[in-house]
Amino acid sequence: MKLFISADMEGTSGIVDPSYVKPEDGRNYERGRQLMTDDVNAVVEAALECGAEEIVVADSHHQMNNLLLEKLHPKAKLLAGSPRDFSMMQGLDESFDAAIFVGYHTRQGVPGVLSHTMSGVIKHIYINDHVVGEFGFNAIYAGLFGVPVVMVSGDDLVAEEARQLIPGIYTAVVKQAVSRTAALCLPLAESRAVLRQQTRAALRSLAQAVPVTVSKPLELTIEFCHAGQAEMAAILPFSRYVPERTAVSLTVDHPHDLYKGMRAMLNLAGTAEFF
Ligand SMILES: [Zn+2]
Repeated sequence: MKLFISADMEGTSGIVDPSYVKPEDGRNYERGRQLMTDDVNAVVEAALECGAEEIVVADSHHQMNNLLLEKLHPKAKLLAGSPRDFSMMQGLDESFDAAIFVGYHTRQGVPGVLSHTMSGVIKHIYINDHVVGEFGFNAIYAGLFGVPVVMVSGDDLVAEEARQLIPGIYTAVVKQAVSRTAALCLPLAESRAVLRQQTRAALRSLAQAVPVTVSKPLELTIEFCHAGQAEMAAILPFSRYVPERTAVSLTVDHPHDLYKGMRAMLNLAGTAEFF
């Protein structure tokens, strides 16, 4: 069995506010990296028990250079650094049997610890009119390669967001969201036990897992926070600016273009002057 792990940071055990996830802040960032590495290791250990032969871990937060390779399980390969054409899902293809998302968070505009979607410019992302956060976007992307997402870890609210798209998904809830920057965290030993137990349960019932399916062509629509960002994103060839929604749409066939289209738009939008 070949397993792809995408590891974000905001949904990690014990992480509650930006001081853990921003290298430039520093107060808790080194603790955050250790916590993130330990969560991933718990999933890797359980996956190996279930017969995983190859495990690729894509560091999927910020500059994608957070996981501590020296402390990562020696059986896991680490994909680190950026930029990457397919960002949080770089390296995923049809050869994988399953994907697990570790340390994920809810989408922009809803409650949940450190909720957001990709970057500060994005208000909402839609794929074929379904609103998606990072979980939904990446789960649909995996589904386009026939790969099911079988487990997600994070707070109780991302678990709920995941179940709305994939009702049978296994969820490792490592904290209860109290506000966007506060949570009731499980003791770490318990948290890691939940991660191991849910990974084992998910991989043992892999035969029943179904990849997310969406119809093609894929329509990607991004609503931006302000019109200046949308105007910059609309520089992208073949895109359509929808001013009444502060949105830009793009129709694509290949999943690679879905990811690159999203990244191109958010990077262009990020250059808009005046916040
Ligand atoms: Zn992140």
